[in-house]
Order: sequence, then C-alpha cells, then structure tokens
Amino acid sequence: MKAEIIAVGTELLLGQIVNTNAQYLSQELAAIGIDVYFQTVVGDNMDRLQEAIRLAQKRADIILFSGGLGPTQDDLTKDAIAAVLGRKLQIDRLAMDKLDQFFRNRGVEMTENNRRQALSIEGATPLENETGLAIGDAIAQDGKFYVVLPGPPKELKPMFANHAKPWLLQQALSGEEMSIYSKMLKFAGIGESALETRLLDLIQSQTDPTIAPYAKEGEVTIRISTKAASESEALIKLTATEVQIQQRLSEYMYASEDVTLEKVIVDLMAKRGLTVSAAESCTGGMLMEHITSIPGSAVMFQGGIVCYSNEMKMKLLNVPYDYLEGDHAPGAVSKEVALVLAEQARMIMDSDFGLSVTGVAGPGYSERKPVGLVYIGIAERDKETEVYELNLSGNRETIRLRSVKAILYRLWR
Ligand code: ATP
Ligand code: MG
Repeated sequence: MKAEIIAVGTELLLGQIVNTNAQYLSQELAAIGIDVYFQTVVGDNMDRLQEAIRLAQKRADIILFSGGLGPTQDDLTKDAIAAVLGRKLQIDRLAMDKLDQFFRNRGVEMTENNRRQALSIEGATPLENETGLAIGDAIAQDGKFYVVLPGPPKELKPMFANHAKPWLLQQALSGEEMSIYSKMLKFAGIGESALETRLLDLIQSQTDPTIAPYAKEGEVTIRISTKAASESEALIKLTATEVQIQQRLSEYMYASEDVTLEKVIVDLMAKRGLTVSAAESCTGGMLMEHITSIPGSAVMFQGGIVCYSNEMKMKLLNVPYDYLEGDHAPGAVSKEVALVLAEQARMIMDSDFGLSVTGVAGPGYSERKPVGLVYIGIAERDKETEVYELNLSGNRETIRLRSVKAILYRLWR
C-alpha cells in the first residue's frame, strides 16, 4: 500500500507554520507498514487542491489530508474531495448536535458558516473530532482510500490514532490478511551514517524484513519490520535479521527494544547495586538531567557538581591551579582535567563511578581549541580512570547531547 499525504494550507506554503502533521502521519503510517511515497503541500485554493488530489490518485492507494476543515471561506478540503469523487456533502447529524450544544453552552448564536464543520462527504465514515468541532471523513472509492483530518495537531493526532488508524487497518489493510510486526534495535557510540554503511548490503538486498535506520536525540535506532500472518512467524523472521545485525554491530547495540541509553544504564547500575556521580563542565548538568529523568535513578545516582568556571573546578573539585592557568597549563578542556574531575566526583560523593565532561560546545573556540573537542572521564572504584577524547560535530546543543550520550555509552560498555 502506497500513501500520499496532502497538507492543505497557504500558511504552510508561506513558511509561517511547519508541516509537523506530515511528519506525525508519516511516522504513524510507517509503524503500520504503509509506505508514504509522497508528501504534498498545497494552498487553500480550489483548483490547485483538486489538481493535487487527481495527481495523488495516480500514484497512491491511500491519500491522507490535513487541514482546511474549519468554518471559513478558505477551508475547502472536503469540497474539493467531494468534487473530484463526484459526491455531495451532507450534514452529519451527530456533529451538528455537538456544534449546537457547543454554541448553546456558550450562549452565542451559531453563524451559518460554522455548520460547514459538520459536513461529511456522502457515503463516508465520519471521523469524530474529540478535541475540536470539525469532523473528519474516511472514504473508500475505486480501490482508493481517503482520510480527511483537521489541521490543528491537537485535533489531528487523536482523530488519526483513535478513529482513522483503526479504519485504515480494517479497510485498507484487512484484505492482506497479514499484519505488520516490527522491532526496534538501539545503538550508541556510532553515528547513523557509519551504522548504515556497515549494514548497507543488508539494507539494500533485504526486502523482508525491511531494515530502516534513523537517528533521533543522539541515538540511532533501527526498525526492522515484517509482514506476517502470525506473531510467532514474525518473531522468527525478525529474530533472524536481528541476529545478523547484532553480529556486525554488537559493540554498539545496547538494546533490542525501544528504550533510551540512560534507562538501560540506570537499570544496569540499580541491578548491580552500583552508584554514580558526576562533574560536568560544558554540559552544564545535562548528563545529570538525563540520568535523573529516569524513574528509579535515585538508587544509583548520588549527585553531581556543575563546575563551569575554572574557579569552581579548583574550589569544588580540587583541580590543580597548574592544570588550568598559565602558559603551559593543559587547560580546562584537557585529558588531565577530565581525569581529575571524574576521580574527584567519585571520591567526594563516595560512589562506584565518577563521570566527567569538559569540552568546547561552541560556537567559537575556547582556549584556542576547536568546537566539538570534548573529554569525558570515567573513574571507577579500584580501577584506573579512563579518559576519552571526542571530536564531535554539530551545533552547541548537539555537541552537548552527544557528549552526554558518549559518556553513557562508555559506561554501558
Ligand atoms: P481550523 O478549524 O482551526 O480552521 P482547519 O482544519 O481548517 O482548522 P487549517 O485552517 O488548515 O485547519 O489550520 C489551522 C491551524 O492548524 C493552523 O493555523 C496551524 O496552526 C495548524 N496546522 C494546519 N496545518 C498544519 C500542518 N500541516 N502541520 C502542523 N500544523 C498545522
Ligand atoms: Mg481553517
């Protein structure tokens, strides 16, 4: 099944709003095994909207619309679809009652144009709007499936999830007698493109299960999906592919389910009864924030110190003056300082592990060192402290985030 998303709205074309609905719908459709081949954006214009629908009919089986269901003159989506499909629009009783009720409760007279929000394409299944007034529509005609959704994301999402998706699963996918099963594999310590390169032959040659890597929030995820008649059949296929991937990338694969690296670390430490503390410079507490955002981190996380200035590095973490100031000092962004920070954090808070981060998040050089140069330290009780040099790319936020993920990754390993 091939799908096309048509986002309707002149605001989108003018760049005043971002097409997050297309992103959401694409993700949701991918998750149920529907391939989105095209995303179209068209303005609030009757002729061009109809043109977009006719084009989509030629190249997609499922066409989803976002926007243009409101009461105003520029809300034309249903009119355009009805015209192309040669159907009429009619008032949906339930939606009309809801509109009446809405205006009665507010004690205001409903204007005529508001009735438009209760219009449904003849023969369509109306889709309830749980968080707004304009109803959506789902309709099958000539082997094609049309799903009409409102523009505001807070209306589109529940309508899709609770009404449109079940309809699609039943109408458009039921004939296939197969369901989509997928599994997530999670990776750290490797970038998306490096990971993809190492799996390229598999990704390109293999159509079932499909292998789709993507990067999000400093982590790389691979979704493997298959169509199967039963869960057990799917499991056999998915596991075979998982094993192939794991063999190649075992040092990076930290989970075979959709969990974050910090969650895995928290669980691991908690299970082993080990504690962690931190000293952070360039990440300014982001590492601690990531760890403590996980419920249950209290048993394993002792605490941390944000030592942003050199003065605080000396005062709170006993970094020697010679390391920081003077012509021959290695400087705050150095192996030496990362090492002291990790060891001191561990000792001061008496934990099993002390973590440290110091680096140049940018923009702009610091200590004549390049943006993206980061040192992370891991001090472990009764072991030699390890310091890693990272050369990260990206803007300030990504460098900080990648530093956090890098240290969590080292800790996991
Ligand atoms: P309304 O009843 O609010 O008029 P509508 O279904 O007619 O809803 P639009 O008029 O197209 O939808 O858009 C209403 C608002 O919804 C926009 O101002 C914007 O905030 C949001 N919106 C519309 N389309 C999108 C989109 N593709 N992605 C994200 N937000 C969108
Ligand atoms: Mg509108």
